[in-house]
Amino acid sequence: MEPSGGATVLDSSPLVALSSRLSRARRSRRVIATCLWFVVVVNAVVIVWLWLHGGGVSRVHSSADVFTSLGRITGLVAVYLALIQVLLLARLPPVERLVGFDRLTVWHRRNGKVCISLVVAHTVLITVGYASSEQISVPREFSRLLSSYPGMVTATVGTVLMVGVVISSLVIVRRRLPYEGWYFVHLSIYAGIALSYLHQLPTGNEFTTHASQADYWIALYVVTLALLVCFRLAVPAWGAFHYRLRVSGITQEAPGVVSLHITGQHLDRLDAHAGQFMLWRFLTRGRWWQAHPFSLSASPDGQSLRLTIKNVGNFTSRIADVALGTAVLAEGPFGTFTHLQRTRPRVALIAGGIGITPIRALFEELPAAPGGLALIYRVIREEDLVFRTELEEIARERGAELFFVVGDHRTIAGRDLLSPTHLLQLIPDIVEREVYLCGPHTMMIRTEGSLHGAGVPARQIHSERFALAA
Ligand SMILES: Cc1cc2nc3c(=O)[nH]c(=O)nc-3n(C[C@H](O)[C@H](O)[C@H](O)COP(=O)(O)OP(=O)(O)OC[C@H]3O[C@@H](n4cnc5c(N)ncnc54)[C@H](O)[C@@H]3O)c2cc1C
Repeated sequence: MEPSGGATVLDSSPLVALSSRLSRARRSRRVIATCLWFVVVVNAVVIVWLWLHGGGVSRVHSSADVFTSLGRITGLVAVYLALIQVLLLARLPPVERLVGFDRLTVWHRRNGKVCISLVVAHTVLITVGYASSEQISVPREFSRLLSSYPGMVTATVGTVLMVGVVISSLVIVRRRLPYEGWYFVHLSIYAGIALSYLHQLPTGNEFTTHASQADYWIALYVVTLALLVCFRLAVPAWGAFHYRLRVSGITQEAPGVVSLHITGQHLDRLDAHAGQFMLWRFLTRGRWWQAHPFSLSASPDGQSLRLTIKNVGNFTSRIADVALGTAVLAEGPFGTFTHLQRTRPRVALIAGGIGITPIRALFEELPAAPGGLALIYRVIREEDLVFRTELEEIARERGAELFFVVGDHRTIAGRDLLSPTHLLQLIPDIVEREVYLCGPHTMMIRTEGSLHGAGVPARQIHSERFALAA
């Protein structure tokens, strides 16, 4: 638990330059965020206005009209949210850089729930509204809608697909479903949206009576599709051709942990930062169809990339068998767990287990004030330490403090490791520092609690979770 590292004094002038670069970056992020929210809100307002303009309120004279009109607006908003849903994970660079891939997956999950609820509400409200205006039963009305309205069968199939996606995402089902199974069910949401589109334009009241409204919606679909094709297909395909990534080396780092060294061309143009991750696809039989997220475990030097992988399941247990020279497709870099988050000159890095990968890269790259860089690396057993020699070397070169905290949290001796008191013992000025944290889920929850307990404000804590929300 002793700190290692020397006492080299770091020059602080690069920090001043960095600080003004960071505030410029923050300003431009604010401008981008304002523009994006403007586009989202303006379109929402246009959609509601078109509904009002089409008699959404003025033509409501009976309870049947109330159901039908509410059915229309819920359907329109549901489609709008479905398009946003697609765009949230379309890898749009400004959105990704602003929010971060992991937070986007959380928004995607929440937006998806609202969207599906509105789709179901739309189906129920329209059916009830039509049934009560024609004074027939709801099941009869439903079968009449299916048989006599164009696109209704496809819309029903689309709705069933969307509900299937929600069911597959329920925690209980996810636990029984392999990740890839869930992922492929999830892809059917695109089919669901396409099938709903086939019913929206020929049957929607607003579109059959106002051509301009149909044009507006077609434009929304076309823009969404164009962005999707561009950033999910064309950009990765161009990247594969441009960077020509290959596995150039494999190193065993610790029991069950290997590093893959990736080389290619033009890697200096990748614009990757320490702390970021990429979605990796290894082009071998049995692997090419899966893309897995792994962080860069060394600061990108423009010549090669390194990822370090712990064996936890099907894919990772076989990763050491990948042949040298294997072609690799990588999407990204993604994530906001970088120096761009920093607002303070002093930094504390905290890693647990395999969470050391992005932290190791930050330890190497992150600018810090003289004597203002410290790393706490928490593992259960000494043999679990990955990059021990590298970390000690970086600590020596950068004059940083390095603490290995070893012990089992399930034992009495290990219970208080990384408690608020322990954190303050290791880094007495931790309250003044920017903190970067990455590790197993429970370790992160506990350590976040300890950091709050020690008095570190939430805005100074940046966490990277090795799990994307489903
Ligand atoms: C942002 C991020 C960075 C990561 N960085 C690293 C790293 O540097 N080193 C490392 O060892 N691990 C890292 N991981 C975790 C790594 O992605 C998973 O351990 C790996 O994908 C598990 O695959 P598996 O088939 O071997 O295991 P499984 O048993 O199939 O999965 C274990 C868990 O990993 C998740 N997972 C599985 N497949 C995927 C996938 N294709 N995409 C997203 N999540 C998936 C699921 O939540 C699952 O519960 C990172 C994860 C994320 C989200």
